[in-house]
Amino acid sequence: MSTEAKNSTRKTTAKKTTRGTTKKSTAKSGWDAKALTDKQRAYFAQGNTKSYDFRLERLRKLQEVIEAHEEAIIEALQKDFKKSPFETYATEIGFVLGEIAHARSNLASWMGAKKVGGSLLNFPSGSYIYSEPYGICLILGAWNYPLQLTFGPLVGALAAGNCAIVKPSELAANTSAVMAKMISENFDEAHIKVVEGGKEVAEKLLAEKLDYIFFTGSVRVGKIVMQAAAQHLTPVTLELGGKSPCVIDKTANLDLAAKRIAWGKFLNGGQTCVAPDYLLVHKAVKPRFMQLFKEHIKAMYGDDPQQSPDYPRIINQGHYKRLVGYLKEGRILTGGDTNDKERYIAPTVLDQLNWDDQVMQEEIFGPILPILEFETIEEVAQQIAHHPKPLALYLFSEDADHQKYITENVSFGGGCINDTVAHLVNTNMPFGGVGDSGIGSYHGRSSFQTFSHQKSVMKKATWLDVPLRYAPYKGKMKWLKMAFRWT
Ligand code: NAD
Repeated sequence: MSTEAKNSTRKTTAKKTTRGTTKKSTAKSGWDAKALTDKQRAYFAQGNTKSYDFRLERLRKLQEVIEAHEEAIIEALQKDFKKSPFETYATEIGFVLGEIAHARSNLASWMGAKKVGGSLLNFPSGSYIYSEPYGICLILGAWNYPLQLTFGPLVGALAAGNCAIVKPSELAANTSAVMAKMISENFDEAHIKVVEGGKEVAEKLLAEKLDYIFFTGSVRVGKIVMQAAAQHLTPVTLELGGKSPCVIDKTANLDLAAKRIAWGKFLNGGQTCVAPDYLLVHKAVKPRFMQLFKEHIKAMYGDDPQQSPDYPRIINQGHYKRLVGYLKEGRILTGGDTNDKERYIAPTVLDQLNWDDQVMQEEIFGPILPILEFETIEEVAQQIAHHPKPLALYLFSEDADHQKYITENVSFGGGCINDTVAHLVNTNMPFGGVGDSGIGSYHGRSSFQTFSHQKSVMKKATWLDVPLRYAPYKGKMKWLKMAFRWT
């Protein structure tokens, strides 16, 4: 245990015995939301979290701690939903380590005040933008990528010089426990604390005055979080979900499309916020696409995906039953096998559906892929526009006009042309939704910006004081107009 964490443990114990805790404000694990936020606020006020050295050191520490717990994280995700070690490394451990490495190499340039152009009306002066940490940031995570969706934003919060309270989802309970241990043994809870639990714990934290809230989860809970934030005027980032379309036109490289869609859809057992939710395939290429799609599923997961060590399970019985319910709504083109005990659902494609079916009304979030047909690209844009703005959109096409048309005419959070999901791994691109799929973005520099207030400061010289702005105004109007035109 680090000296910092030991000190913190001593301090925490002392606080508990002298202060005691009330039933009303104490969560099941014995922590107290108000005491925790007070403690972090006092720590932040000391100013230590703002220095370059401190930020860099804590990022380095986080990296070390994750590396040291690689096996434990892999094991926890195996227990939570049979996620393979390869996918755990690619989408959780490696992903967060990549974010840390990027933040560490760019921190100095991100932190520095940015000099920007001045305005004639303020002559003589210099103008600067300072990135200021907010203070205490609450990070609420979803269960499907439990490490990535909490420690990913944490990298941004630490790089920006904040304190952070992280609440992972209770549904990935094993991973949540490992994360809590990793942080409590290595960081002072006055700086970073992982609080475990579900809705009630989140509600207690949200009742406190926080300086930033970063939420990943469903649209329904996103609205609850935003309402709670409004009580304290706390700024929010909402990383939400929705139905992400995947379009395949008749010029597409069908073999690659089938392979890349099968990968993006069945990764994590289809439990990915940016997974292709449904397919819109040109009528002329649908039969060939389906044939190739089946071949690629078989190549990735074998004749019986239930036996594949690489194919995850559904997180819990509730989600499993919801997904099994969809299977009755269409004609099964491939897959459809289930196993209640294991919460297994085979990679499945559903045909003969329309927009009124439940599976086309709700985010699927599982290994079931409805397939719809289209004839014109304009029709595709219209259909998508009739529904909430998606978090992601994927277009498979060799037609540059179609690529341009969809990119420019359809609103969506982000996406790929001729691939799925992979846009997330580029730290140079902000990741986030639009409309119902979210507010704000993160990853790479965008994470640093998300967790920083942009403070604009003008430094005015004192060697000259232009008299234009002061009354009496008589005779100054023409100069004022001129100054605004030149500014
Ligand atoms: P969820 O909204 O049920 O839960 C998310 C978090 O909110 C959890 O920590 C949970 O404990 C907490 N929570 C639940 N009810 C709450 C309440 N009433 N008040 C306060 N907090 C509450 O989401 P989930 O099931 O964990 O995740 C699935 C959803 O998340 C899907 O919609 C998916 O698309 C979305 N998601 C989005 C992204 C993204 O980056 N945009 C990533 C992953 C998942």
